[in-house]
Amino acid sequence: MSEPHWGDEEVIDAPACPECSHPMKSGGIVLSKREDYGRRTCRTLWRCAGQHVWWRWADRPDEPLDACPVPELLR
Ligand SMILES: [Zn+2]
Repeated sequence: MSEPHWGDEEVIDAPACPECSHPMKSGGIVLSKREDYGRRTCRTLWRCAGQHVWWRWADRPDEPLDACPVPELLR
């Protein structure tokens, strides 16, 4: 018998949308090139119930979300 597992990596606290305060859902990740390092890094996408799309560097979870400038490319 194994103990209940609470630390599932898929369970992430969903942040609230900085624009409209609705809870957001993870929209997956995008591979992007970071200019200060010149190497490819993933960005995590977040979508709220409205039209807002945000993202941030997957390896910098402490940074604030940035508005995704190209939401039409990510559908
Ligand atoms: Zn929103």
